[in-house]
Amino acid sequence: MSVCGMSRVSRYCSAKPWRLPSLRHLPLSVWASSRWKHSASRPYKAVIFDMGGVLMVSPYSIAAEWERQNGLQAGSIWRTILSGETRVAWDRCLLGELTFEEFVKLCGKDPGKAIQTTNTVQSYLLKVTDHMSDGMCVAMREAVQCIKAEGLKAAILTNNFWFKGQSVLPSDKNLFDVIVESCREGVSKPNPEIYKLCLDRMKVCPEESIFLDDLGQNLKAAAQLGIHTIKVADRATAIQELELKLGFPLRGFVHGTRAVRKGMEIPTDSLKNYLQTTLGLSSEDAVLLRQFTHGQSNPTYHVQSGAHQLVLRKKPPGKLLPSAHAVEREYRVMKALGAVGIPVPTLLDICEDPSVVGTSFYLMEYCPGRIFKDPTLPGLTASQRGDIYTAMNHVLCKIHKVDIQAAGLEDYGKIGNYIERQVHTWTKRYRASETHVIPAMEQLIKWLPLRIPEQEKITVVHGDFRLDNLIFHPDKPEVLAVLDWELSTLGDPICDVAYNCVAHHLPEDFPLIRGMSKCDLKELGIPSDLEYLALYCNNLGMNPIENWNFYLAFSFFRISAILQGVYKRSLQGQASSDKGEIVGKLAAKMADLAWVFAVREGFRIFDSIPVGNPGPPVRKYSTWNRQRTSPATFLSPSFLDVNHYRSLVSVPKGHLIISPEGLPTRVKDLYHRLTVFMDKHVYPHEKELADYHRSDRRWIPNPRIEELKIFNSSAPDTGNMEMLVKYGTEAQKQQWLLPLLEGKIRSCFAMTEPQVASSDATNIEASIVEEGNFYILNGHKWWTSGAMDPRCKLCVFMGKTDPQASKHKQQSMVLVSMDTPGIKVIRPLSVYGMEDPPGGHSELIFENVRVPKENILLGPGRGFEIAQGRLGPGRIHHCMRLIGNADRALELMKERVKTRVAFGKSLADQGTIKADIANSLVEIEQARLLVLKAAHLMDIVGNKEAASAISMIKLVTPSMALRVIDRAIQAFGAAGLSEDYPLAQFFGTARSLRLADGPDEVHRNFVAKLELKQIGSTKNS
Ligand SMILES: Cc1cc2nc3c(=O)[nH]c(=O)nc-3n(C[C@H](O)[C@H](O)[C@H](O)COP(=O)(O)OP(=O)(O)OC[C@H]3O[C@@H](n4cnc5c(N)ncnc54)[C@H](O)[C@@H]3O)c2cc1C
Repeated sequence: MSVCGMSRVSRYCSAKPWRLPSLRHLPLSVWASSRWKHSASRPYKAVIFDMGGVLMVSPYSIAAEWERQNGLQAGSIWRTILSGETRVAWDRCLLGELTFEEFVKLCGKDPGKAIQTTNTVQSYLLKVTDHMSDGMCVAMREAVQCIKAEGLKAAILTNNFWFKGQSVLPSDKNLFDVIVESCREGVSKPNPEIYKLCLDRMKVCPEESIFLDDLGQNLKAAAQLGIHTIKVADRATAIQELELKLGFPLRGFVHGTRAVRKGMEIPTDSLKNYLQTTLGLSSEDAVLLRQFTHGQSNPTYHVQSGAHQLVLRKKPPGKLLPSAHAVEREYRVMKALGAVGIPVPTLLDICEDPSVVGTSFYLMEYCPGRIFKDPTLPGLTASQRGDIYTAMNHVLCKIHKVDIQAAGLEDYGKIGNYIERQVHTWTKRYRASETHVIPAMEQLIKWLPLRIPEQEKITVVHGDFRLDNLIFHPDKPEVLAVLDWELSTLGDPICDVAYNCVAHHLPEDFPLIRGMSKCDLKELGIPSDLEYLALYCNNLGMNPIENWNFYLAFSFFRISAILQGVYKRSLQGQASSDKGEIVGKLAAKMADLAWVFAVREGFRIFDSIPVGNPGPPVRKYSTWNRQRTSPATFLSPSFLDVNHYRSLVSVPKGHLIISPEGLPTRVKDLYHRLTVFMDKHVYPHEKELADYHRSDRRWIPNPRIEELKIFNSSAPDTGNMEMLVKYGTEAQKQQWLLPLLEGKIRSCFAMTEPQVASSDATNIEASIVEEGNFYILNGHKWWTSGAMDPRCKLCVFMGKTDPQASKHKQQSMVLVSMDTPGIKVIRPLSVYGMEDPPGGHSELIFENVRVPKENILLGPGRGFEIAQGRLGPGRIHHCMRLIGNADRALELMKERVKTRVAFGKSLADQGTIKADIANSLVEIEQARLLVLKAAHLMDIVGNKEAASAISMIKLVTPSMALRVIDRAIQAFGAAGLSEDYPLAQFFGTARSLRLADGPDEVHRNFVAKLELKQIGSTKNS
């Protein structure tokens, strides 16, 4: 019986949870299965049972016995109950208006009945309740289990009563999907309403259900509604009748099995002969077969012959690929592993003669144990859960420790390049079953081969190692058998560990298996995936696994490919379409999840960035060219000195590339693709987008931009993302950084306040006050760019946590979800009338905004420090965009002056125009080179060391762009100021960037301050 999500099953009984039709239960192995199992359209979907007389002993037969024992006339007890005032009281009792105890009392007061009679009735009724509290009759119980195993629903529909504060039901009532009781509903059989209620709750039509009762009048009412009926006079006969109607046996139930599927039958006669000759089983005993419900592609049967219980596993019938369904391999590996102490089922024999059951098969012993279907292990204590996970970990280590040669398995699989081959195989399989583009799969197919782990340990790998493939001891945390070796081979053991942890990363409502991504694992006593991995490494004395996220990405990639295969087969008509569709969507979801891990794996490069104050430069090489140089080269404090810089740029491949021609091939290709993209998709739509930004729909993200969205480098998202990378906790990164990186959400940064000079961040007045587990935010902010965008989900809020602390320790930064109550948008601000939709620059009020304490970045008092460390790459992007705008303005100007004639010659021939063009070209190039240098320094020595160069470009570029754009506007005449050209907009942007991200004066001050400090330190040294 299924107890609290745990099944007591027998050895080699994969009663697994991931099984369709109830989608939570699709087994992973079904994903690999070559067939899509689907419930054929059956006429019946539910069986409804009466209680007394059907599931349990009849009150009438108890009465007959009682009457016989007490020398009463046959039928006298029920005649007494159903006559006079007692009858009225009995009916009220069934409707729940009287309790049984009240009814018994009333019985005694019925003036129409003698005391003697009353006492007899009371004693009889107490006897009935005694019987009722027993479980169901064995045969009926087994019938119900068989019905449920076939995926049909089972219900109790009973006229019962309240007794000792509870309604009377069998103790094993949990077997039923629906229970309808007269005493709870206030309506009893044969009133048609109670039948309708029952059908309604089971969500079935009358003709899809069968009703069993021992009373004719109840059956009649059911039949009138269209329900099929069976009269239960004798239970054995009724069960036979029910078997005939349903078309499957209702006896011999074994947990985790169902009746043998159509097309999967085995000739029992030849099997019986075989069992007699090979295992010496008696010819007297019939051979009873049931099929395990798990979804492996190799059909598995429970075989009962007398007292012997065996498990038979065979190849599926029909034509098979030569390497598929190799039961011989399974037998071989289990035999070999069993011999070296790995817990596997006890193997009895293998038969490769197809004349016995149609294909090769092998036999194992069947023995009791527990299979845990739900990875959260409901019903166990925290420490028991920990023990179960530890036992699982130990057995996995044991498998991976097997000496391949000693076990005679050295030729069990190809040696080496396991993951490479796996990626190749699953990519091929995915391509073969591809029905539409899954973008994440495309990314993974490119990404995975580039990240194949270099050093691969080779061990026996199980290939499908998960909790519900293990049979545990009935009482102890001990693995008795590891099942399902179909996908086993020789390969990289970490693949098994990662696959073992997939449930850790799935959501709770994931339909195929209960996921644990939102569970409080600590409270449950279950190790996190990293703890589980650490335990594994510790058990094996291994170094920590650095590329764990790669292995998770690969695991989910494989699952996605398998699900896609299932989906394709469902489209080909081998599965019901609605389920197929769900599986199709799951394939995409799994690919998305795999990509999340791929992104995380990519983020390992950030591990080298120090949190908080970076100290001396540590990024010793460009992340692009990955050329390491000696740390000593970069540790000099005077790295900005020309000679030193020369030594820097002379580092092979670490040199500063100043034109696209000098770029490495891969980057050159990117540059080329970008140019084509701009020409093809961006410039032709410029006018349309400008019109959209002036239309009423401007606050709705433009669908064309959404379609084209490829850069994800807008302010303030890049600054916020960098801040999260550097200062965020893992949970903050998970919640905000990943969706930001994926372009799924947008963000804003709320620092500037109207009432104070915000170029000096220490002036900020907004308050962040601690209250229990929350911070309460209050403040007035403006120029919060991006806040109006409907996709904006995150606000980085700056305020003071401690106004009494030293000047630079008063501020903190808190991550605020934009849907938190108390955030009010006052108005969108505009730059020269341009609102910059859909993000805009808004004025906001924060009024008692409650934010969980864990949303603070880095800690209280660290806001100023974060603000200083925040804006490196963001400033480079701003400057690159400005250079682009200036470049465009010059391009437009050149075209314009060539075609426009004034005073008898083209404008291009005017000397002043030529001077403007030359000056613009020179200034753009100057700024571009300075920006390149700053970017290069950031790459090779880090943000802090590049701070002066970053301030220089922030100072130089907006002014340069303003001059160039202004010349272009002048050359265009009045048209340059109009909406017909992008020049006025460029001008507004460039102008605002002399203020945004710090006014020019502040950057000028900073550059000078550093320079003076530099001179001071050089002199001192
Ligand atoms: C388009 C745009 C977008 C913006 N986006 C954001 C955003 O997303 N989030 C955000 O928090 N803020 C944003 N801002 C605000 C911006 O960061 C501030 O405007 C800027 O920091 C200046 O602050 P302030 O406006 O309060 O000017 P103030 O601090 O009042 O300064 C006014 C002027 O005083 C002068 N000054 C200041 N300091 C010195 C000095 N040391 N020496 C000499 N002169 C000095 C400068 O001329 C300066 O322009 C944005 C601004 C614009 C225009």
